[in-house]
Amino acid sequence: MKDEIRRSEKQHTLGELAASIAHEVRNPLTVVKGFLQLMEGEDERHKHYYPLILSELSRAESIISDYLNFAKPEFKKIETFSIAELVTELSILLNPYALKDGISLTHLIESDVKITTDRNQLKQALINILKNAVEATPKEGRVSIKLIPEGEQVKIIVRDTGKGMTKEQLSRIGSLFFSTKQQGTGLGTMVSIRIIESMGGKVEYTSKIGKGTKVSVALPLISSFEEDSV
Ligand code: ADP
Ligand code: MG
Repeated sequence: MKDEIRRSEKQHTLGELAASIAHEVRNPLTVVKGFLQLMEGEDERHKHYYPLILSELSRAESIISDYLNFAKPEFKKIETFSIAELVTELSILLNPYALKDGISLTHLIESDVKITTDRNQLKQALINILKNAVEATPKEGRVSIKLIPEGEQVKIIVRDTGKGMTKEQLSRIGSLFFSTKQQGTGLGTMVSIRIIESMGGKVEYTSKIGKGTKVSVALPLISSFEEDSV
């Protein structure tokens, strides 16, 4: 009996719970933001508070986004799918984000392969990496995604022609709350690395200050999930 209870409790890992909470919190935040924007011009006395309230709300939204960007808060769902399709989908999804800063976002598929993993989580991990690449890149810069199947694994390589990182920054990447951005959360890379490592994969950063960054994600074709991972 006790064992049974423990087993059903185990189905809800910390990461899954965080994703559900993030999803539930996002909706009321959006509603509050909408009403505030509506009220902005009406109340003269408290006018000066509005920009502050809105920017704090945006910050709360971006914390949630790093956990749960466009992915649904589904509990772990293992599927077999085309990795080329996912990469193409991500490229289309992030294209407006890149274009608004005049950055070209391209993808190159060497060949396709089927992989078996949690599609939503992988999508979240790659979104965070791509978002960072775009955010680091100046106007007219380039971000590229390359997909290379290699035997029993697949490599997804994200390159940018952005500001790059110093050795010190590079050594801190992936640690909680490390951010060099004014409105940064310092959660994105940590979430991405944890997701990919939980799938039995690996993330490697190489970077040259002022030149750009290369993020190399290696994933096994079939994920070997650890218990209680993200
Ligand atoms: P945030 O984006 O909110 O700052 P992240 O965890 O996503 O948090 O990233 C942490 C930090 O890592 C960033 O603030 C940035 O300094 C650095 N970083 C991540 N990716 C890149 C990249 N492609 N180029 C340069 N710096 C990067
Ligand atoms: Mg980020």
